[in-house]
Amino acid sequence: MKIRKSRVLFFTLCLSLTAFFLATTAAFAANPRIGILIYKYDDTYISTVRNALNKALEGKAEIMMQDGKGDQATQNDQLDVLIERKVDGLIVNMVDAQAAAGVVNKIKAAGIPVVFFNREPDLGVLKTYNKAVFVGTNAADAGKMQGDIIKQLWTANPAFDLNKDGKFQYVMFKGEPDNPEAIARTEFSVSQAVANGVKMDQIGQTFVCNWDTALAQQAMESALAANEGKIELVIANNDSMAMGAIAALSNIGYNVEGGSKLIPVIGVDATDQAVDAINKGIMSGTVKQDGEAMGNAVAGIMLNMISGKAPLNGTSYKYDDSSIAVRIPYAPFLGK
Ligand code: CA
Repeated sequence: MKIRKSRVLFFTLCLSLTAFFLATTAAFAANPRIGILIYKYDDTYISTVRNALNKALEGKAEIMMQDGKGDQATQNDQLDVLIERKVDGLIVNMVDAQAAAGVVNKIKAAGIPVVFFNREPDLGVLKTYNKAVFVGTNAADAGKMQGDIIKQLWTANPAFDLNKDGKFQYVMFKGEPDNPEAIARTEFSVSQAVANGVKMDQIGQTFVCNWDTALAQQAMESALAANEGKIELVIANNDSMAMGAIAALSNIGYNVEGGSKLIPVIGVDATDQAVDAINKGIMSGTVKQDGEAMGNAVAGIMLNMISGKAPLNGTSYKYDDSSIAVRIPYAPFLGK
């Protein structure tokens, strides 16, 4: 009798434990754990993507987000930790896109689905793993849209041709020297303006300012010291550098709200500061990189992959020619 009673107790205990484990498993299945590696938190555009990711994954996943602080070695360590913690999915914004092969190999060995975004690795490398997708933009498009904006500014404002030589004298601010986006924006902004019939004439060398406001401000101060009155246009690969150029201009009385002297400055990203500057009339245009659309696409594709569906299942996105990359379109922004 005594034995029987303890057996019943034992079975009851087993049943409760089974129920507990089933419930726990169900909870994990409903809330996958997603590791997110960001190249650096201190980047205005990437912050908009981070916010969109947080919002899109809220209640749908447990997020572990890490700041790579612009250092690939740091990001590699963060990746090791997330793999060790057996996350269900990974979202990766590479610090150094050229280091992707090692990163892909580690993720592939762990069998974790991964969505890379923004900084584009060699797609050939990504294709070596059948659970990898890239979400980015078409690098040439941002430059071409800047070229279209240049044409509009040139046509609408004859006064921008300060020396009346029929050419647009410009200075160029470039992001990182080997970054594919920076290279494409630098090249296509000017080639598109030329294709649109604007004669372009660069003043000085291209200023490589690593997407950074302070570096761009210093470079613009030097450019103005040497060539004040000769610069008719400022082209920047991103809005952060455009803001630096505007700060340098404002310091000597150009591009001040309500002022009379304006050197047109154009950037890329449509950050809050740039939109504000455009609305105040101290910046002339930017190209909108839609961080929210990017974050939503990355989140949706990641959730699909984790639940074993085709990455683009139920979305309106389409792969480009590579069959592995989705491109979020840019849009020109010239304010009101
Ligand atoms: Ca001119």
